[in-house]
Amino acid sequence: MFKNEKLNVFLFASLIALQVLGVIALWTKFEWKFLPAMLFIYFWIGISTTLYLHRYLTHRGFEMPAWLKFFFATGSAVGLSGDPVTWVGDHRYHHLKSDTDEDIHSPIHGFPYAHMMWLVRKPPGFRDRSLRYAADVRKIWYCRLWERPIYYIIPHLIVAALLYFTLGAVGLLWCLYVPMLVVYNCTWAVNSICHMKALGYRTFETTDHSKNNFWVGLGAFGEGYHNNHHAQPRCAAHGRRWWEFDLTRYVIWGLEKVGLAWSVHWPKPAKEETIAPVSEDEAGAMLLFGARIKDPSLKDSAESAK
Ligand SMILES: [Zn+2]
Ligand SMILES: [Zn+2]
Repeated sequence: MFKNEKLNVFLFASLIALQVLGVIALWTKFEWKFLPAMLFIYFWIGISTTLYLHRYLTHRGFEMPAWLKFFFATGSAVGLSGDPVTWVGDHRYHHLKSDTDEDIHSPIHGFPYAHMMWLVRKPPGFRDRSLRYAADVRKIWYCRLWERPIYYIIPHLIVAALLYFTLGAVGLLWCLYVPMLVVYNCTWAVNSICHMKALGYRTFETTDHSKNNFWVGLGAFGEGYHNNHHAQPRCAAHGRRWWEFDLTRYVIWGLEKVGLAWSVHWPKPAKEETIAPVSEDEAGAMLLFGARIKDPSLKDSAESAK
């Protein structure tokens, strides 16, 4: 199912071209004056995907002011991360059908499809299904507006023009297309790598193949702790152990501290939590290799959790 669907040639060519622009930048001369804009845009489009599209809009893990929602929604449009209605609808359907034949980006259909090709080979009718699952998002005026590509690309074009006229063509490549290349592949790795049976470790026994992976977590602002997320989708924290670094969690925590986020679905207090303790050695192995090392001298926390 899925991987032999008709190719959306225009979208495929666009996604490849956007990434090629990021790769081309690596052959041009980097200037230190690009760094502030590059880091700002990387953070803006990255956190807009994880904090806004995923943890807020899809799973409603917390609330925030309308102006801040618009700021992050705009960030996701600047990075062309996918219009919110489609993003939310597709992702909610993924949670419903994870790793079944109907899960559009499960690695059971092959790695290339799980990573990127699912975006450009959607079956007929998938769009309608997404719309049903994102009916609440369609009530937000800018999300409904951005369902039309002609409006969706405007924030991207404005930021691209600003960068071109202030930092030149090379500055534009480094400050916009390098961050997009990184954010795209880290986000897609959550769908592909974090659902592969052979990679990562599991903290919760879920019905899907979801895994936690420190390295994907590092690149994708904390989204790599995907098994934790599948176990408790609404929880605003994906990293649950102290060493599972989850940047998005800390940004939401910071927003809550200054009154810009509220009704946050935080993990339950430790005494009610079901996460089994792991030894320091085991934590180190999980952290470095992204996988639980089977050492008989180490207590298997999955076993002890039962
Ligand atoms: Zn998943
Ligand atoms: Zn999710």
